[in-house]
Amino acid sequence: MALIEISDISKVYGFGGASTVALDEVNLSIEQNEFVAIMGPSGSGKSTLMNIIGLLDRPTHGSYKISGRNVEKLSQNQRAKMRRDKIGFIFQSFSLLPRLTVLENVALPLAYRGLSTTRRLKAASSMINRLGLADREYYLPRHLSGGQTQTAAIARALINTPSIIIADEPTGNLDSNDSRLIMELLSDIHKDGTTILIVTHNPELTRYATRVVYMRDGMIIHDEQTSPGLVAPTARKAMSYLPFKTEEDDLAGVSALMKVIPGGDSSVDIKSGRKSRASKKSKSRPGKPRSRKAKK
Ligand code: ADP
Repeated sequence: MALIEISDISKVYGFGGASTVALDEVNLSIEQNEFVAIMGPSGSGKSTLMNIIGLLDRPTHGSYKISGRNVEKLSQNQRAKMRRDKIGFIFQSFSLLPRLTVLENVALPLAYRGLSTTRRLKAASSMINRLGLADREYYLPRHLSGGQTQTAAIARALINTPSIIIADEPTGNLDSNDSRLIMELLSDIHKDGTTILIVTHNPELTRYATRVVYMRDGMIIHDEQTSPGLVAPTARKAMSYLPFKTEEDDLAGVSALMKVIPGGDSSVDIKSGRKSRASKKSKSRPGKPRSRKAKK
């Protein structure tokens, strides 16, 4: 049974003429212990998909099952509990609380479990130690390097031993050395059996993944298995267009990526062969942010 099973999920923001289709009948099945990189241009629906998978948001249509359990049928409290117990989040902006020490930040998710303060701090300390940050336990986030801050955020995401880690551009604010360390850390966590979903603009990072899913206009337009250690074949083709040195290069690279995917730069969904209304609309409004009409 798949760990994550998404069937015909759509997400529409807004109403009437001002509505945007952020996800357009997406199907995605992820087995336990996959390491999935999600790539695609800005506005293609990556974060919306992550938010739905992470139970931070609900789809407008479609069904979502975690370990065979239909999550739409859960009450608000059951959803919150499932999110807390099964899912760990890592964000580009780290999102540690600035007035708490590393130790207190990492211990925070345990507060909802009814553990004593001593047991919480002990568990947090052992997690920080495991990730190699023991000498920074009592530091405030502002006194850490970017890589150390993200390591602390990863320790916090892991403290509840989640089965799924969702990382939205976790290396977006890091230099290349820290990016490598963080990706190696995620790779170790993956080897321990955790399922990892990471949104990235950087094809180089597909080296750590076992599968790469490419999105455009709210749809999955390509999905490929990849060998850890190697850049995903489609991402590799795009890399020959540009060296990836800056964030702008990364974004330009994603555009290049879409050109090398069959159907990626056209208005045809390669899976269904259907014409995408989204692309038609974006073509008709050059220079405007992409916005798609909701289905009637
Ligand atoms: P990505 O993560 O690939 O950049 P997003 O999932 O953030 O894409 O956004 C997909 C589309 O949905 C975009 O057109 C975006 O403007 C729109 N969108 C995202 N969140 C909201 C929101 N809260 N309200 C309205 N539109 C939104």
